Amino acid sequence: MYLPALSHNWCETSASDIRALDPNHFKLVGKGSKKEPTRVHIGPIEIGGSEVVVMAGPCAIESRNQLLITAKTLKESGIRILRGGAFKPRTSPYDFQGLGEEGLKLLAEVKKEYGFFVITEALSPSLVELVSQYADILQIGSRSMQNFPLLKEAGKSKKPVLLKRGMMATLEELFLAAEYILAEGNPNVILCERGIRTFEKYTRNTLDLSAIPITKALTHLPIIVDPSHATGYRELVPYAAKAAVAAGADGLLLEVHPSPLEALSDAPQSLYLSDFQKLVNELELIAKAIGRSLR
Ligand code: PEP
Ligand code: MN
Repeated sequence: MYLPALSHNWCETSASDIRALDPNHFKLVGKGSKKEPTRVHIGPIEIGGSEVVVMAGPCAIESRNQLLITAKTLKESGIRILRGGAFKPRTSPYDFQGLGEEGLKLLAEVKKEYGFFVITEALSPSLVELVSQYADILQIGSRSMQNFPLLKEAGKSKKPVLLKRGMMATLEELFLAAEYILAEGNPNVILCERGIRTFEKYTRNTLDLSAIPITKALTHLPIIVDPSHATGYRELVPYAAKAAVAAGADGLLLEVHPSPLEALSDAPQSLYLSDFQKLVNELELIAKAIGRSLR
């Protein structure tokens, strides 16, 4: 089947050569069902509109102090959405699993003190209710993208959902996973490209930048990029982040830590706070160059 020409005029010559699925293949997330882009509202913040929205914070909430120091810098940088995992999906059962509900409480405390909106992961269907009491956005992690009971539970919740692409999932599978959430009545889904497994070993994953224009051509959902998990190394994060903004991402999810070398999870990819501040300023220039604002 042929993809209708990508909606942007920027590559008219090659657009007709791009093949993919019919947008009507996706009953609810497909452009066929809704022409206008979905804009997800988190308080006054709009994801999927003209702004590029930066969500940042530690991979895992480790302590009050760690979260407070991070939050202070983020606030100074104009960031409005704080990330932090309380229930962590770890490859090894012996690694730090997160603070659980105690982590959610710390998130609530910092949210109140600094006025952030917060995003955190719901690892299982039974956690959706608890996490919803604290989170402004429910994160569904890469490893959970095809946890269908979890998708259905998130679909029943009233909270916006950030659905991360499975590390071994095609875009079609990602769109169909989002379809589960919409089918349960929750239209507020944000997709997240966070890198996929390839044969390349110098990066943790391979960032699939073409996911951005393809998502926009086939679906009406916003898509953000997570350059931290996509690259796995803090030295590479700025390059991937800038490329994502230039390619039209609606937002970024970035891991930062006050002492990255001591982070209990994802230490190699966590940005130093000072590097994060510098990066945000650079990203703002890129956003401006393509007619968007960023924070
Ligand atoms: C995370 O955001 O910390 C995380 C676990 O991400 P992913 O699900 O993309 O691996
Ligand atoms: Mn992480």
